[in-house]
Amino acid sequence: MIRIEDVINKVQENRRGADTDLIRRAYLFSALHHRGQTRASGEPYLVHPLEVADLLAEMRLDEVSVSTGLLHDVVEDTLVDLDTIRSYFGDEIALLVDGLTKIANISDLSKEKQQAENVRKMVLAMITDVRVVLIKLADRLHNMRTMQFLKPEKRARISQETLDIYAPIAHRLGMGKVRSELEDLAFQNLYPDDYKRLSKEVDSRRPELEAALEKIKSTIAERLTENEVPFIEIQGRVKRLYSLWKKLKKQKIMIEQVYDLIAARIITENNRKYCYLTMSVIHDIWTPVPERFKDWIAIPRDNLYQSLHTSVIGDGGQPFEVQIRTQEMHHIAEEGVAAHWKYKENSLGKKQEDDALDELRKTVEKLLLPLVENTEEHEDSEDFIETLKLDLYPKDVYAFTPMGKVIQLPRGSTLIDFAYAIHSQVGDKCTGAKINGRIVPVRSELQNGDVVEILTNQNASPSADWLNYAVTSKARNRIRHHISTEQRVESIEIGRRLLHQEAEKFQLSAKKFLHNDAELKRIANEYGLGRPEDLLASIGYGKTLPRNVMAKHLGPEKFAELDPENKKDNRLKTGMKAVKKFIGLGEDSIVVKGVDNLLINRAKCCNPLRGETIIGYISLEKGIVVHNKRCKNVSHLMLNKERIVDVEWAKSEETQKQSVQLLATTENRTGMLAGITNAIANIKTGIRDARANVSKEDLGIIEVTVEVFDKKHLDKVVGAIEHVPGVIAVERVNA
Ligand code: MN
Repeated sequence: MIRIEDVINKVQENRRGADTDLIRRAYLFSALHHRGQTRASGEPYLVHPLEVADLLAEMRLDEVSVSTGLLHDVVEDTLVDLDTIRSYFGDEIALLVDGLTKIANISDLSKEKQQAENVRKMVLAMITDVRVVLIKLADRLHNMRTMQFLKPEKRARISQETLDIYAPIAHRLGMGKVRSELEDLAFQNLYPDDYKRLSKEVDSRRPELEAALEKIKSTIAERLTENEVPFIEIQGRVKRLYSLWKKLKKQKIMIEQVYDLIAARIITENNRKYCYLTMSVIHDIWTPVPERFKDWIAIPRDNLYQSLHTSVIGDGGQPFEVQIRTQEMHHIAEEGVAAHWKYKENSLGKKQEDDALDELRKTVEKLLLPLVENTEEHEDSEDFIETLKLDLYPKDVYAFTPMGKVIQLPRGSTLIDFAYAIHSQVGDKCTGAKINGRIVPVRSELQNGDVVEILTNQNASPSADWLNYAVTSKARNRIRHHISTEQRVESIEIGRRLLHQEAEKFQLSAKKFLHNDAELKRIANEYGLGRPEDLLASIGYGKTLPRNVMAKHLGPEKFAELDPENKKDNRLKTGMKAVKKFIGLGEDSIVVKGVDNLLINRAKCCNPLRGETIIGYISLEKGIVVHNKRCKNVSHLMLNKERIVDVEWAKSEETQKQSVQLLATTENRTGMLAGITNAIANIKTGIRDARANVSKEDLGIIEVTVEVFDKKHLDKVVGAIEHVPGVIAVERVNA
């Protein structure tokens, strides 16, 4: 078993002045809390954090990272909480441990397949510190190295996740060595049969391949020396099993046809001209395969990888690949961003170290930013890892259902959006929600990694104010749809009542008539409507007049006979017409915001006038009743806030005239009535009624009903009356 002193020595070797005391304390804390725990292998659990810390020391990471490596599983696997970590080790380590714990929770939750990309994005969205990625990769690497003791299903799941998430991240960060090892271990555990078959096949050729490589290496060394091209090292490699397997599968070819089954790698001194010189020597020895030459030095790959690649036909006709790069490029190719730490000067001061860290952070951000365009790299079959759309600061937010399904939503989405994203029924019936087990308001904004449980109730329904909190169009459309459905239900009810009243006016049995589905359907069809409810809704919306329905029901003769209007005297008839004109059944002079064609009535108590501020109240009897906002009754209506709707004056060219009753108080003298009616007539305003009285106080009281278009018009009329000599005051009745 590795000892903490080995780790500390490694840190001290690499970083002068490192706080080894911190590492020792982290070790003791981890040992204390993991005591008694064992790994699947039977070893003490502590081996795992120690090995992770060792990998981090190997990467030359700072003591904070190494200490975090020791503590990384404490919050997840023991009773210690984050606050305790913070009180012992400070904010920085607590933040790193928290990040790692959250990522570990993602792995535990994401049991659903087909969501690899979302999980990958989520992991990245949650990484707030470069070191979290590196520690997580070290953690995963050690787990992959020691997974032989786990059950096959668990091995397969972890391996799949490694291929989906961690190998691509290592690749994006240019950490070729870590990525290769992760991939080969995952391949071995996920496809054990393929792995065995392929490794057997490669092993059977290995002596031959090794011999070929030796010969190639010595030929290259000889010819480079001959041509006085300096080099540091020549390596040979047989293609890794996972990348070989992928290539065979993708291109459906035999192993003999793989151009880069073996490859020679030449490491030159840190000047790219040696790479190109070496290349020319190689092409002088062997014939290059056309189209196989790649200059990743002039144009580095997105993950900073630099190298020259060429394939040539070897002596026996066996093609092989040659990779040429400087030592610096080689470090980057093997260790990616980790190389930034490792190969910096050993004696950096604190300030320089901070600068270096800052520079690294920027590099990582750049590397992990989304690759918008497909570059040539992705056509390269040697390396056909798909484009990874990574984004450290995504426009999206990722959250989980309790079952571990990842739900991706735009940033700023709330629990309402989440509920509708699961299913529209879940949204409709949502009454509340829990985030990470805690009850929260449904308008709460989602954070990355939240585990969200939506609480529902069969009797619940969406509330209109959700529109203020829903961001996604799916949620908004559903809520709107629901509101309009509700309004339809309401208007059917209104239509039914209006038709009921009308039938009674015609001396019919309203109940019987309303239950006569066949007849209602017949009338509905005459209006081009399908069902009786459509007819009722149309009445409720004010599109169809109940009186006209009666006409269709009764036929012209019977209608005339029963028509209550025929029984009234003429004066009443005119009055009815006037009333109808300004109340305006079906008339469109007021609109309810966002909804068309609802039945609208002006409230009799305040008789609102065009131009005045108005408010609508949904009444089952009369549809939407529109009040002047200052009407004294409005405050009572406010008790039923959910029935208040926004209304506004329709912008109509043809403004409707409306009757308004005014009361003028005057001195008691003759000619007052004539003076006032004259003044009104002079501004071309219609007078419907005018009468004069004398009050107990011996003042003249003149009531006059005028026809005006809007408030402005009314103000003009009032002004005109006020100017008549002898007028003391003018007020509006019922306003
Ligand atoms: Mn771990």
